[in-house]
Amino acid sequence: MSFATRFAPSPTGPLHIGHAYSAMLGHQMARDAGGRFLLRMEDTDLERSKPEWAALIVEDLTWLGLTWDGPVVSQAAQLDSYTDSVERLETMGLLYPCSCTRADIRAALAAPQEGVAHDVYPRTCKARTMSTRKDGDALRLHLDRALEQLSGTPVRFAETGAAHAGLHTVDAAQALREIGDVVLSRKGEDIVAYFLASALDDVAQGITHVVRGEDLFAFTAIQVILLTLLDLPVPIYHHHALIRDEAGKRLAKRDDAKAISTFRNEGYSPDDIKRMVEI
Ligand code: GLU
Repeated sequence: MSFATRFAPSPTGPLHIGHAYSAMLGHQMARDAGGRFLLRMEDTDLERSKPEWAALIVEDLTWLGLTWDGPVVSQAAQLDSYTDSVERLETMGLLYPCSCTRADIRAALAAPQEGVAHDVYPRTCKARTMSTRKDGDALRLHLDRALEQLSGTPVRFAETGAAHAGLHTVDAAQALREIGDVVLSRKGEDIVAYFLASALDDVAQGITHVVRGEDLFAFTAIQVILLTLLDLPVPIYHHHALIRDEAGKRLAKRDDAKAISTFRNEGYSPDDIKRMVEI
């Protein structure tokens, strides 16, 4: 299969220089390989995602000289496409309903942040069966059972990013300790967890290489577990180093000073941006 990668921003703020680097790197890798580069808006967080941000991201990427193959995909516009996979996991007996507070669930569904430990669910609702599901309950993955079903099946992925290059095998004990029973969807609001929607779309879009920031490396294991459970192909991952500010701090989306639109308004050129990130 020929090389295909994607840039998959969550349109919850302006495109900052760190994300622009990720997009430019993926774009360059795709063009160098004579492959495809796709753009996908990961807007399943219906409250925080805004069409204005998506439009500004498209404008900034275009200004940077990036071109993508095919239309921009919006996950929010295709929420139905994720339900089959959730139902399949349910049929496999791997889900249970959870009524723990909205704050817990939102934290688990929100896009990851560097330095914020991924909360391992305390298993409060673990003994519940699907027949007890009520409106508003979330669905959690019964990770122990999932890993049991996978015993004997290698859960592996290849990584080409410098920091973790090599073949990785997901370790069941470590997954139970560090990942736990993640929320996969939430009834009534059509919300699907970011990492599930993202992994399913990578497969649906024929992505061969997932090029993204190092901050998302920790999510790879759960994505690979889910893809393997669903008998779906696992792409190659390439996690790149993060662009940091002068003080060595990761650039956050809310750091508007580093937004591409700010640089644009101040008269910087796309080449200036490329020089700044050394691409
Ligand atoms: N939507 C995620 C973000 O903006 C990136 C997902 C990915 O590249 O896998 O943080």
